[in-house]
Amino acid sequence: MNISINNPIIAGNWKLHKTIPEALDLVKDIKKAASEVEKAELIVIPPFTALAPVRDVLEDSKIHVGAQNVYWEEKGAYTGEVSPSMLMDAGCRFVVIGHSERRQYFGETNETVNRKIKSALPHGLAAIMCIGETQEERESEKTTEKINRQLEEGLEGLTAGDLENVIIAYEPIWAIGTGLTATPEQAEEVHAFIREFLVQNYGNDIASCAIILYGGSVKPANTYDLLAQKNINGALVGGASLDAESFIQIAKQGLKAYEEKK
Ligand code: PEP
Repeated sequence: MNISINNPIIAGNWKLHKTIPEALDLVKDIKKAASEVEKAELIVIPPFTALAPVRDVLEDSKIHVGAQNVYWEEKGAYTGEVSPSMLMDAGCRFVVIGHSERRQYFGETNETVNRKIKSALPHGLAAIMCIGETQEERESEKTTEKINRQLEEGLEGLTAGDLENVIIAYEPIWAIGTGLTATPEQAEEVHAFIREFLVQNYGNDIASCAIILYGGSVKPANTYDLLAQKNINGALVGGASLDAESFIQIAKQGLKAYEEKK
């Protein structure tokens, strides 16, 4: 994976938004402003239809392109699905796998997440695996149990080498699209738990370089405090990534937090 943990990673998940002309307007604005946040690693994650046009705009830039989903089969009678090599062909090098909306509305499970990661990696796609607890699970103190199971089952059978191409995104479900954000302390507690899981299962070298993003109503005003936490390496941003100005402001706040962490 062509990005490093030494800089904040800011990924914008556009979800089911943006026609091709709208996507082009947005990505051109992001590209223009990206010179203000040169050290940040930016990933834009448009809907499938806009992937190739967005990639064309970004060809001469260091902004990365990702997809929101992938299927594990390479080709065949799987109407409506998109394969890893199709994503590579469209210019993606990242793919979000197991977003809570996919789990909630489209029946994805830890098992399908695992199959998708295993099919994406050999093609050169880095996986952004999303995990997180519901409000109810948090209130009944089941957060770490849930996270642990999602990590164990989602990463089942992957080697330490594979883990170099897996980003973990911790996204408490109660914070996604709700305007509620985990406090920096709540988020850091889970991020530290994830890092420790990686130490125990893949060793120190892999764990210390692993990228762990926070997601859940990230906006310019809360980015600094979140990314100032030791184990938070960046943000997976939904709503606030649909506006170039706020996406770039998030990257600026991320850089500021990283300056303090050094
Ligand atoms: C997301 O799309 O993963 C997300 C965290 O959305 P939002 O920032 O809108 O809560």
